[in-house]
Amino acid sequence: MKKSFYNLNFEDLENILRENGLNTSAASLLFNWHYKKKVIAPCTVDISKKTLNFLEENLSFELPQIDIVHESSDRTVKFLFKLHDGSKVETVLIPFHGKYSICLSSQVGCAMNCSFCFTGTQGLKRNLDTSEIVGQFLVAWNWLVQNREEGGRILNIVFMGQGEPLHNFDVVKKACDIFLSKNGASIGNQKITVSTSGFIPGLKRWSEESLDVNLALSLHSPFTEKRNELIPINKKYPLEEVLSYIDTIPLRRKQFITYEYLLIKDFNDQEIDARKTGELLKGKEAFINLIPFNPFPGSEYQRPSEDIVENFKLILKEYMIPTLVRTTKGDDVLAACGQLNSKS
Ligand code: SF4
Repeated sequence: MKKSFYNLNFEDLENILRENGLNTSAASLLFNWHYKKKVIAPCTVDISKKTLNFLEENLSFELPQIDIVHESSDRTVKFLFKLHDGSKVETVLIPFHGKYSICLSSQVGCAMNCSFCFTGTQGLKRNLDTSEIVGQFLVAWNWLVQNREEGGRILNIVFMGQGEPLHNFDVVKKACDIFLSKNGASIGNQKITVSTSGFIPGLKRWSEESLDVNLALSLHSPFTEKRNELIPINKKYPLEEVLSYIDTIPLRRKQFITYEYLLIKDFNDQEIDARKTGELLKGKEAFINLIPFNPFPGSEYQRPSEDIVENFKLILKEYMIPTLVRTTKGDDVLAACGQLNSKS
C-alpha cells in the first residue's frame, strides 16, 4: 500500500527522497505546491522524471472527500468528510471579518464521553492519521476558493472538533509540524491551538516535547463533582493534577494558556462557580473563554441568559483574568462547540 504524502512532515519527505537516491530539493517544491499554494492536483513543475515516477509509484495524494456541506446563515460552514474506509468526521469554518478559523477533528468519535458533547455520545471509532487532519484543512481551503468571494483565507487553526487531540498525540504533533513548516503552510505558532479535556498522558508528553502551539484546557467547572459529571476522565485525571502538569509547560513570550468554560444554565453558571474559578486561576498566565452551552438533539442542558453570562464575566474580571465570551456561530446547522457528530 502506498504511503500518503500528507502523512509526511518536511524532514520525513527529505529522508525518503534521500534514501531512494533522489534530489532532496524536490521536498521544497512539493511542500510549496501542496501546502503554500494549496494545490490539490499532483505537482509536475520542475521535478525530474525520475522523481515523478518515484512519487507516482510510492506515494498517495488522496485527500478526504466532502460528503455534505452545511452553510449557516452567519456564513459558518460545516463539512462532513468521508474518509477512505467510509468513516466520517466533521470540520467547521468559522468566519470573522472576511477570514476564517478552522476547527479540525482529530479522531472519529471520542473516548472521553463528555456529557455536554454530541461527539462524546458516539464513543471512539478510531484515530485519524495526519493526512486526514491536514486534508480537512486543504480541502476546506479549496472549497472556500471556489465558493466564497473572499477566497480561502484560513488564519487560525483550532483542534476543537471531534476527538481528544492529546489522545492522538503523535499524529496531531506531526500535523502541527506540517502547518508550522516554513517550507509549507507557514502558519504562525500563535495561530494554532490544541485543546484538551485534561488527558494527562498527552500533557506529560507536551511538557517533555514542547509542542510549539497554544494549549486550551476544557475547564468547565472548578468543582470536582460537577467536573466529573461534565468530563468523566476528571475522575482518573483530577483537575489539580492537570493544572500542575500545565504549569510545567514552558510559555513563550505573549503566550497564554486558554481555559475554556462552558456555561450551562443552573449548573455551573452561578457566582460561587465564577469565584472558585477566579481563585483557581488568579496569578496564572491565563485567559478564559466563556462558551454559552449549545444544545443538541437529546441534550439535557440549557444555555444561560445573556445577563448571567455577563455577570460571570464581570466576577472573573475582579480576579484580573482576561475573559472573552465566545459568540456562538453555526448553531443553526449544529456546527457550534460540542454539537459535532459523524452523521449529519
Ligand atoms: S468535548 Fe472533546 S474530549 Fe469531550 S467527548 Fe467531546 S470531543 Fe471528546
